[in-house]
Order: sequence, then structure tokens, then C-alpha cells
Amino acid sequence: MTETKGYAVHEAGTDFSPFNFERREVGPHDILIDIEYAGICHSDIHQAKDEWKDSMPTSYPLVPGHEIVGRVAKVGSDVTKFKVGDIAGIGCFVDSCRECPNCKNGQEQFCFKQAAFTYNGTEMDRVTKTYGGYSNNYVIDENYALKVKTEGDLKGVAPLLCAGITTFSPLRRFKVGPGQKVGIVGLGGLGHMGVKLAVAMGAEVTIFSTSPKKEADAKSLGAHHFVVTSDPANLAPLAGTFNFILDTVSADHDVNPYLNLLGVGGAMVVVGVPSSPNAVHNLSLIFGNKTLSGSLIGGIPETQEMLDFCAEHNITSDVEVITPDRIAEAYDRTIKSDVRYRFVIDMTAE
Ligand code: NAP
Ligand code: ZN
Repeated sequence: MTETKGYAVHEAGTDFSPFNFERREVGPHDILIDIEYAGICHSDIHQAKDEWKDSMPTSYPLVPGHEIVGRVAKVGSDVTKFKVGDIAGIGCFVDSCRECPNCKNGQEQFCFKQAAFTYNGTEMDRVTKTYGGYSNNYVIDENYALKVKTEGDLKGVAPLLCAGITTFSPLRRFKVGPGQKVGIVGLGGLGHMGVKLAVAMGAEVTIFSTSPKKEADAKSLGAHHFVVTSDPANLAPLAGTFNFILDTVSADHDVNPYLNLLGVGGAMVVVGVPSSPNAVHNLSLIFGNKTLSGSLIGGIPETQEMLDFCAEHNITSDVEVITPDRIAEAYDRTIKSDVRYRFVIDMTAE
């Protein structure tokens, strides 16, 4: 077995503490990754606090972390994609059935048998519990690990494995590009990646934020406009002017004011997962032939495409690096929307 040192929360509402566990031996198709950085996604917080208990209850002890980057320390005998010393990434799932139409189409996140999520799930044997990247290593089948070409700023690469792909995928699906007006709602971990990616794709980007103090950062992220949403009067003049809006907000909020900003044929995609359902009047969609959609991360081929796109365009996440003893503080600050713009844990720090 592979000895692993991680950080776990043992029940909802408690703090993280060191937690040692075992991962499987490196099999013929596996690689062992020594983890360098793990990003803190708001989904980690939702699950650590069991906020999705109705749909995805948390199994404790929970070692979160699905934005993982590190170096390959060992390869199985049949591995062809990686060699020792390569930089590799792990996102939100580590295996799937490989046989269903969704797996065959590179949409493994929608595996008919349900993908093996990186944590708070099980391997495909449905018995072995998965533990995430708030730990010093991971054993993964090479086909579910991603190749990272960026040599430099590895800490800024970790968040691409979830925040990056979750925003890249819907921007690509709705063919965002030059001449289009794009809105990003919520300037947090996902939101700031959405801005960088939409700008790189050539769109005119507006940030919708509840935090006026983030305006100065908006420009450095490449956004063209910044709108404070706490005053509805700021939205009124923008009605009907957007081609595409990506809503990344983690807390309960009304989506109808944003649907109102879409032009004819416009689309809005929600990726945030607040605990309560939203009420959308059909007329909000009927007038203007509008589309309201969701999006879940991305499959392995698209995640690799995103990483390559980011390497080509020099895109990484803006991060605050912390040591593992500061996870609770990072969670509190993220919940208060006080993150610039992703906390990343240095997993090489003791
Ligand atoms: P985050 O870093 O905490 O950012 C969320 C942002 O939402 C905040 O920075 C804030 O931006 C805004 N916000 C927070 N509370 C708000 C409120 N009460 N009203 C309006 N806006 C508010 O979170 P994240 O890691 O980007 O994740 C965002 C959401 O996406 C989470 O629910 C997460 O679980 C989900 N997620 C989904 C997927 C997927 O595949 N669909 C993948 C990853 C994460 P401002 O300060 O600018 O207002
Ligand atoms: Zn995530």
C-alpha cells in the first residue's frame, strides 16, 4: 500500500486535523503523484460543511481537494503517458466506467455508472473510499491524470483543474469569442478564471460583483467593465445587451435579473451550487428565446485542451498560498468573498 499524509474534517462543523491513510499500490496503469499544491474550491467548503446533504451527503472523514498539481514519483509497468519527474494534474474525478456513451465521448464526468470522484466518493469498485488532494500524494490511473506543460508557476496551475475547466467548458460550448459581450457573475475562484479565459477568447467582459472593493483588480484581470450588483439601478441600463452570462455565485441569489440582461438568443450558464433552488418564470426565457443551462466541470479531453490553452496564453490562477494549518482561516475568508482569488495549499509544507 501507499502511505499518505492528509488533512481531514471528521464531522460537519469541525476543523481540519492531520489524518494518515493508505492509497492503493501503484498498479501497471497507475502513476504516483507527489502533490505540490492543492487549490481550495468552494465545493470543498460545501462538502466539508455537508451543505449538499440532500443530494450528495458527505462521508466523513473527508479529505477534500480536487485541484491538484504535483510531480510524478513512480509509474506502473504499462504507463506510456507519463515518466518520473513529469508534472501532472488531477481534477474532480479519478476514474469512470470507460464503456458508456458518455465515457466514450470524453464526458466522463457524466459516466452512466457515476465517475469515481476525487474525494467524497468511491473508486469504481464502489467500496474503496476516495480521499482528495489535501494530502501529500495520489495514486491514479494515467488516463485520468492530466499533463501540465507549464514549468513555472505551478501554484497558479492547481486551480485550473477545477475552476479553469468549469469556466472554460461552457465558454467553449457557447462559442464565446470576438464581438461578443460576456458577463461573469461573482468574482471568486471560478469567476476570476472565467474573466481571464473569456478575455483570452476575445470577448468583451463585464464582471458583476457584490464587492465594490474588487473593482481595482477587475482591470488587471483583463475585464472591460465592472458592475456592483447590490444596487439594481446599475443593471437597468444593461438590459438585453449580453450574448452570454456565466453565473459562478456560491450562495443563494436571484438569477432573474441576469436573464433580463441577455439579448435575443442569449444564454446564461449556472455553475455555482447554492443550497436552495432558484425560481425562474418561463416568461423570463420566452421573451428573447433565451437559454438557461448548467455545466459540470469537463471531461478529460476538454480538461487537457483547457490546460494547453492556458499554457499557450500564459494563463494561471491568481493565488494566495497557505500552509495546511491555515485551511480553516482560508475557508472563513472564502465564505466572506475575501479571496484574491484562490487559496492554494502548499502540500510540501509540514
Ligand atoms: P468562491 O471563490 O467563494 O466565489 C464565489 C463568489 O460568489 C464570491 O467571490 C462572490 O463574488 C460571490 N458571492 C458570494 N456570496 C454571494 C451572495 N450572497 N450573493 C451574490 N454573490 C455572492 O467560490 P468558487 O470556488 O468560485 O465556487 C463557486 C460556486 O461554484 C460554488 O457553489 C461551487 O460549489 C461551484 N462549483 C461548481 C462547479 C461545477 O462543475 N458546476 C465546479 C466548481 C465549483 P463577489 O464578491 O464578486 O460578489
Ligand atoms: Zn471545484
